[in-house]
Amino acid sequence: MTIEKLLIANRGEIALRIHRAAHEMGIRTVAVHSTADADAMHVRLADEAICIGPPAAKDSYLNIPAIISAAEISHADAIHPGYGFLSENARFAEIIEAHGIKFVGPKPEHIRTMGDKVEAKRTAGALGLPLVPGSDGAVSDIEDAKRIAADVGYPVIIKAASGGGGRGMKVCTSADELETLMQQAGSEAKAAFGDATVYIEKYLGNPRHIEFQIFGDGNGNAIHLGERDCSLQRRHQKVLEEAPSPVISSEERARMGKVCADAMAGMGYRGAGTIEFLWEDGEFYFIEMNTRIQVEHPVTEMITGFDLVREQIRIAEGHSLSVKQEDLEFRGHAIECRINAEDPATFAPSPGLVKAYHPAGGMHVRVDSGLYAGYRVPPYYDSMVAKLIVYGRTRQSCMMRMRRALEEMVVDGIKTNIPLHQSLLHDPAVIDGDYTIKWLEEWLAREGEG
Ligand code: ADP
Repeated sequence: MTIEKLLIANRGEIALRIHRAAHEMGIRTVAVHSTADADAMHVRLADEAICIGPPAAKDSYLNIPAIISAAEISHADAIHPGYGFLSENARFAEIIEAHGIKFVGPKPEHIRTMGDKVEAKRTAGALGLPLVPGSDGAVSDIEDAKRIAADVGYPVIIKAASGGGGRGMKVCTSADELETLMQQAGSEAKAAFGDATVYIEKYLGNPRHIEFQIFGDGNGNAIHLGERDCSLQRRHQKVLEEAPSPVISSEERARMGKVCADAMAGMGYRGAGTIEFLWEDGEFYFIEMNTRIQVEHPVTEMITGFDLVREQIRIAEGHSLSVKQEDLEFRGHAIECRINAEDPATFAPSPGLVKAYHPAGGMHVRVDSGLYAGYRVPPYYDSMVAKLIVYGRTRQSCMMRMRRALEEMVVDGIKTNIPLHQSLLHDPAVIDGDYTIKWLEEWLAREGEG
């Protein structure tokens, strides 16, 4: 079935990204927005726009009845959820399909499985993905917990089955600590996520975060599009991403990519997905799977020339995958800097009026952003306002181009973290690709002292 009109159930740069893919396919778009986003770029560009509620996300971007009504009023035949908001809400996907509308995303049951971390880990293990050693499912009993911890060795990490966004995790270094923290973790998980279920994993000391992009057609065929290295994080939030990872050889990419693609083929996965691993001493350890398009997807697009959002839409239309694994080539290097409206030193959000805006340009430079001069960044949502993505034939030329692009980029009126990115791209460890998930926070602590 061809999609003729696509409703975009999101905001910001990803709403614009989806609008662009749709228009390039001749598909009309419907923007839904809160009252705070009436002047957003994607709302201006969409063929139709419908206000779905006040600024608070729970009343607008998370308001399922309002979004379904907007789809019915506008006769949209498909809905793209973007990332965040309702993108990993299985119930939302089911409701959409029950209304005879296509959901541009995975099958609801797969969203549900991967959204429960205990279930996700069990499924991943059964599909042949390497796991972090730990409990086989949920742990309720403290004796059980101690036995498992002694087995895998301290330190261990207690995680909430329904946790997310880097929350609900506790590191324990001894059996005594485990006893106290197990109780705490359970009641905190209950309070935060409405589910007290916790599980235990070995705590890896100093890993990298490496994730594989995959795509499935829902009929047992799947491909991988290589990895992204997202180790530069602050408070579990990614700051700068690159593809390929500086530590993964092409043989290792092919081997691990195939493990991921085979797993997705095995489950009959449909659409785009990301399998996240921690990587230490040459070993991969599955941590979770995201059943949606990721913020950092453009670095994969830059090195493969493959339009991931277009492919999501094609798969939702019922087509088969548009490339074969053997036809995919990984060429050159790409880096993405997430540009946030925030104070570069304190990280306090900095919403407000953008007085002047000049995106970087030139060869192999891409800016995904809804910013324009005169736009007011609303205070209600995520602080990311732009993504600057550059390509280079080599990692070295890519970094030189990113430095040049950051110099050109002007966002006046609000504070941004552009200076942070500039410092990062001049740091010897970043230049050498010699960093782990702990590196940025340690670096920030040193900078603070110095
Ligand atoms: P969330 O869904 O909350 O993002 P993840 O399971 O993806 O949770 O973990 C988030 C981050 O927590 C990881 O990127 C990593 O920095 C850290 N982390 C998770 N599990 C472990 C582990 N077993 N050892 C060390 N660090 C971990």
